Amino acid sequence: MIKINENYLKLQASYLFSEIGKRSAAFQQAHPDREIIKLGIGDVTRPLPPACIEAFHRAVDEMANISSFRGYGPEHGYAFLRQKIAREDFQARGADISEDEIFVSDGAKCDTGNIQEIFATDIKIAIPDPVYPVYLDTNVMAGRTGNFEKGRYDGIVYLEGTRDNGFIPDLPPEKVDLIYLCFPNNPTGATISKSQLQTWVDYARENKALILYDAAYDAFIQDDALPRSIYEVAGAREVALEFRSFSKKAGFTGTRCAFTVVPKSCEAYSSSGEKYSLHALWHRRHTTKFNGVSYPVQRAAEAVYSEEGKTQARQLIDYYLKNAALIRKEVSALGFDCIGGENSPYIWVDGKMDSWEFFDMLLQKAGVVCTPGAGFGRCGEGYIRISAFNNYENVQQAMERIKKALA
Ligand code: PLP
Repeated sequence: MIKINENYLKLQASYLFSEIGKRSAAFQQAHPDREIIKLGIGDVTRPLPPACIEAFHRAVDEMANISSFRGYGPEHGYAFLRQKIAREDFQARGADISEDEIFVSDGAKCDTGNIQEIFATDIKIAIPDPVYPVYLDTNVMAGRTGNFEKGRYDGIVYLEGTRDNGFIPDLPPEKVDLIYLCFPNNPTGATISKSQLQTWVDYARENKALILYDAAYDAFIQDDALPRSIYEVAGAREVALEFRSFSKKAGFTGTRCAFTVVPKSCEAYSSSGEKYSLHALWHRRHTTKFNGVSYPVQRAAEAVYSEEGKTQARQLIDYYLKNAALIRKEVSALGFDCIGGENSPYIWVDGKMDSWEFFDMLLQKAGVVCTPGAGFGRCGEGYIRISAFNNYENVQQAMERIKKALA
């Protein structure tokens, strides 16, 4: 008899976005003449930089010609892209990462989800709350948790992000083996300083733990004192893997390209205490289960590092940050506490009421959709996330409507 992986039965239905969709549709049906402005989603709205489009086209043409056609590529990515990543994203900022430590992939979602396969099932895991749900759900699927009780999975150490700690979790109260961190953070927009990150790296070194550092939003960092990479922090090469993406950096959410950094100096242990290279394990997993990113997409990603590409990608980020600044300004002027939006595309607003109540109020009174914080974990209750991924005119209009509705 074929049996299922019963861990899947522990998963909670992805209630958040379906419920947002349901409530928005009901509102639209009741008010067919009112136009909803969506500031809930985390997807980009601007097209790819022209430099990427040109490189993409050129590479497609190469595939049409017998002398330049390419078949299967290297699973971990072409050297032309890995070299640029290592040089521009790491070495140029003083981070000691080499091209053969870069694994090009089709998404930070897939990589943050798949990476747990190379670790034992009986390790202790620390996951932030509120959180990007992929870290938690993939560990539930793998059987690293108990059941879901009172809003939390048994067996997980939750790292609480609260107003008191500025949404930078404190070190765990008990010893953990694997730690997920994400900065700039989704959903809170919080950023971490080098010294705060150093505390985590030191903890990992002292406890033979490993940090999985999700830096999918690094391109939004404006403050040069903030680390863009965990490898800007001393000792991180031994205890951290990093996930990056072209999705938000250059509008690749529909084109798909990302990468994971696995330093050769990162090791983990067998049950008998022997050390093993994580680079070798991830290389084995990646080459066995992943076919690589298509050649034209990698050429398009490479173009992000050209002079024009850098300028154009910068303009995209600036566009969204201008939206974020407007949202922050208007929401603060209405008397709400908020964080994020200065080095991130998300603004995390303390609504001083139930998240869903706040969501409904903005929808009903202003026709604006946000994301209720409670959907990202228990610590998100009372907050909403407003996303800067939209057109400036829409953001302006949304803010005008919210001002009128709440004034
Ligand atoms: N990590 C975080 C924190 C995200 O918010 C997202 C997307 O919203 C991702 C990863 C996914 O990135 P990608 O598009 O590269 O899969």
